[in-house]
Amino acid sequence: MTVFNRVESHRKAEDAVYDKTILAGDGWIHELKPGQVLRIVDLEGNQAADTLFYDADNPEDHYSAIATIARQENIYLTAGTTLLTESGKELLTIVADTCGRHDTLGGACSAQSNTVRYAHDKLHMHNCRDTFMLQLAQSDDERYLKRDLAPNINFFMNVPVTPEGGLTFEDGVSSPGAYVEMTAHIRTIVLISNCPQLNNPCNAYNPTPVRVLIWNE
Ligand SMILES: [Zn+2]
Repeated sequence: MTVFNRVESHRKAEDAVYDKTILAGDGWIHELKPGQVLRIVDLEGNQAADTLFYDADNPEDHYSAIATIARQENIYLTAGTTLLTESGKELLTIVADTCGRHDTLGGACSAQSNTVRYAHDKLHMHNCRDTFMLQLAQSDDERYLKRDLAPNINFFMNVPVTPEGGLTFEDGVSSPGAYVEMTAHIRTIVLISNCPQLNNPCNAYNPTPVRVLIWNE
């Protein structure tokens, strides 16, 4: 059964302490302090924001799709979901969500997956894995390496699971202005690739910007 759990936020954009637009295909890395609230806005709808989270004090302890799914007994993420690390530590909790459902099974696109899913001549195209690596390489934090590219969340992405247990990539379920908002429990590094995918119906073959806002509480 498909259930979309939509919860609105009371926070106002003008009260945010940080406000940035991540252009289509670009990346973003940022540290959240405990108690800070991060909102990701799908400005034009049906965009996929591929996101990784790390315990900033223990970078090897990163977001775990498996631990998060097992704890909440639901493969989709939405308001009420607490995002856990590999060790079971609580990183963030989703406190508002006007999209209603997010994927954490489909993984991030890469040059390799583009050739497997689409065609060999897609090898050169931009992809989330390369964006993640570029952001880590450009950051001042030398603790993060290629090996730290762990399972991610695809905010706003629609990856329904079939009754047989297969994954399908479908047209998006998000809409212009839809957002997801989460509170950090500990110092957390956020790494976003605003997916540049031109082969996937999730973003209507048209990558668009997303906006990130941060409040202190
Ligand atoms: Zn991607």
